[in-house]
Amino acid sequence: MLFSELASFFSRLEETTSRNALVEILAELFGKTPPDEVASTTYLLQGRLAPFFKPVEIGMGNNYVADSIARAYNTDRAGVLRRFDRLGDIGAAAKELAEESGVAPPPERSLEVSSVFNCLLEIAGISGAGSIEQKVQALSGLLTQLDPLSALYLCRIPVGKLRLGVGDPTILDGYSFAKVGDKSLRKRLERAYNETSDLGLIGATLWNHGIEAVDALSISVGNPVRPALAERLPSAEAILAKLGTCGVEKKFDGFRCQIHKLGDEVRVYSRNLEDMTGMFPELAEGALHQVAADTAIFEGEALAYNPLSDEYLPFQETTKRRRKHNIADTAQELPLRLFTFDMLYVDGENITPLPYTERRERLGRLIRPGDTLLLSEERVAHEPAELLEVFDDALQGGLEGIMAKKLDAPYQAGARNYNWVKLKRAQAGELQDTVDCVIIGYIYGRGRRSSLGVGALLVGVYDPERDVFPSITKIGTGLTDAEWREVRERCAPFVSEEKPARVESLLQPSVWVEPAVVIEVLADEITRSPVHTAGKGEGKQGYALRFPRLVSFRDADKRPEDSTTVAEVITMYGQQGAKPVPA
Ligand code: AMP
Repeated sequence: MLFSELASFFSRLEETTSRNALVEILAELFGKTPPDEVASTTYLLQGRLAPFFKPVEIGMGNNYVADSIARAYNTDRAGVLRRFDRLGDIGAAAKELAEESGVAPPPERSLEVSSVFNCLLEIAGISGAGSIEQKVQALSGLLTQLDPLSALYLCRIPVGKLRLGVGDPTILDGYSFAKVGDKSLRKRLERAYNETSDLGLIGATLWNHGIEAVDALSISVGNPVRPALAERLPSAEAILAKLGTCGVEKKFDGFRCQIHKLGDEVRVYSRNLEDMTGMFPELAEGALHQVAADTAIFEGEALAYNPLSDEYLPFQETTKRRRKHNIADTAQELPLRLFTFDMLYVDGENITPLPYTERRERLGRLIRPGDTLLLSEERVAHEPAELLEVFDDALQGGLEGIMAKKLDAPYQAGARNYNWVKLKRAQAGELQDTVDCVIIGYIYGRGRRSSLGVGALLVGVYDPERDVFPSITKIGTGLTDAEWREVRERCAPFVSEEKPARVESLLQPSVWVEPAVVIEVLADEITRSPVHTAGKGEGKQGYALRFPRLVSFRDADKRPEDSTTVAEVITMYGQQGAKPVPA
């Protein structure tokens, strides 16, 4: 396929405000894509050159992209940046100059998608002395061979601003519609996605070898597995009634990490499947010394912990480790420990189908004693009192609650179900748990708040079935001035002129924001609401959070698709009558 044709599809996707239309356009696109370009087209749709977990970066910011544009269209960096300032989009600046310069060829003489993709991969691979000059030159060379619309999308990719608003489940639906005309393949594709996290791999397998080959894709070292997640129940009694005798552990509030070890190679992946190996070197080092297997995949929660005082540091402290500079110094000041709690794979064997007790027992044998990797303590509870003892112990240590685990459950990648159940401390008159919401818009402030630029936030939750973000509440109080400013700064790159395609809201904020910034919100209650669209069906009201307040920014470890789901909100609504566990 010509890159100019792909660019026209991008343009149609960008203009669409309906999720169904997104799927239709994607199905049309994949219907026309040759099998050997399905993977590259998929990554490009995500604005990337590789799956999310592979840190392949082009390594060019606005200034260098501007240099490439200037060189391609015979102008200078300042001229390009002036247009960029006026248009707010480096791609639009490139398009204008391409149109005016007369250098750009017509769309039908544009390059193939695979040529553009490979060239971008080469640019990403250039390093060392003189690399910037080579990158600028290579990108400008590409631009001179592309039409104006292609130039627009090409220039957005290095600066991370492609933003087509297409989520992973939407791409899976696009595959299914392209292949069979409906979404009947979605479940099978999703299973493969949960175990490999690589959409391009799934697309290429489907196009080249068929759906049976996709069914054969499975967990492997080097591909992060989408994590299993926990449900909520309101009390120890409810947990025992649901799970029977169960394992109980403290719930640590840090970064969830999935460690992959392949011989001397160790990789650390975050909950949202990012490669964190460089940021958390002591965990990789710890795994090399303490893991008694050649290959293994296991999970734990990483947090700053003081073993002398048995003190767990709060998330706000641990989150300081999520940084790109001075890593060695901060690792010294705030070393992380990994409280390991589950295991998925060892020496060639996928052990996710085994019951939890057996995986746990193997984990005990996998982790050698040492300072960095610790086994999370586990107790088997038969009675509520036993469960509450662990709960009290957790609160004493400054933690937020416990996790209960069903003893005979397999590890189900990407699933949130009652195999794991969390029980958190709650104050009377508050919801039992916080809700992770994504910002979808904001409303300008009045009076004193007008200087902050934001007066209230419109936030949503996630509906994974339909891959949309319906609204659930407005947050207008409880933020400090600094937090309002921070909100505005974090949202700035995602501001959208129109309602983003995957956002569902009856309310019209002053400014729409693409779903990207995740915040943890505490509320008093969940109510039914005619105004909010979360859980709203035909003739049925939606759900809303009452008296919501910001607890923390969670975009360090959560993607918008990791927000609380509509189904969870409905379950939490149903549990509200139950007596909460006292603080
Ligand atoms: P939440 O993010 O509130 O849904 O809680 C689930 C998260 O708790 C998991 O994704 C883990 O990051 C974290 N967690 C903390 N302690 C444990 C534990 N002992 N077992 C499993 N997950 C844990």
